[in-house]
Amino acid sequence: MRDQILVLDTLQRIDMELSQLEKDLREYPEKISAYESEIELSRKKLEASRVMKQEILLSKSGIELEIAQNEDLIKKADQKLFEIKTHKEYEALQKQIADTKRKNSELEDKLLEQMVKLEGVESQIAKEEEELASKENEYTGKIAGYKEKIQELKILYPPKKDEKVNIASGLTPDILSLYERVKKRNGFVLALVKNEVCMGCYMHIPAQLFNEVLTLSRLIQCPSCQKFLYCEEELKSEAKTG
Ligand SMILES: [Zn+2]
Repeated sequence: MRDQILVLDTLQRIDMELSQLEKDLREYPEKISAYESEIELSRKKLEASRVMKQEILLSKSGIELEIAQNEDLIKKADQKLFEIKTHKEYEALQKQIADTKRKNSELEDKLLEQMVKLEGVESQIAKEEEELASKENEYTGKIAGYKEKIQELKILYPPKKDEKVNIASGLTPDILSLYERVKKRNGFVLALVKNEVCMGCYMHIPAQLFNEVLTLSRLIQCPSCQKFLYCEEELKSEAKTG
């Protein structure tokens, strides 16, 4: 029965390696997409800020144009003042000049507002460019690393799977199905017995059963946790013989 315990032990080890491989193969692509979407998010934020900058520039040049046109109007009206004959016309034109000057002063306030906004968005863009560059710098390497690992795991996986089939063929079908059942329930299938106690669940093993474990007359399962029981000497002695 020691052979069977050793086969179970090997099978368990291969199964653990397989499930680790499966876990990595499942998780690594998720990590890659998480890094990729982080980069994409930064890129979109930067893009939005650049669009905002264009809008501010557009509104700023609109205001500047309006101010220039008003200044032109004021200049022309100032010249016209000298040609005016009646007092009434003179007053009307002076009022028009004053109104245009007031409008321009309001426009200049607006222009200042846009310039402050522009300064803000420009420093935001600089910050976001730096953030994007550092994310690209950091994550591109990580993404490449994970892609490389995935390729390696894909190569390792099939032979490991074959190894499992090969090892499992050393067990009788009923023990194999018992193994799968215990594994499903407990994760681990083997439990060491020390001083008549199962190290898998810390329950006391009846003396008679413990003797059977010692004598290896048959494969014994723990009455409590169902794990296959073995004594330390069993795996050790095999290790010595190879
Ligand atoms: Zn147990």
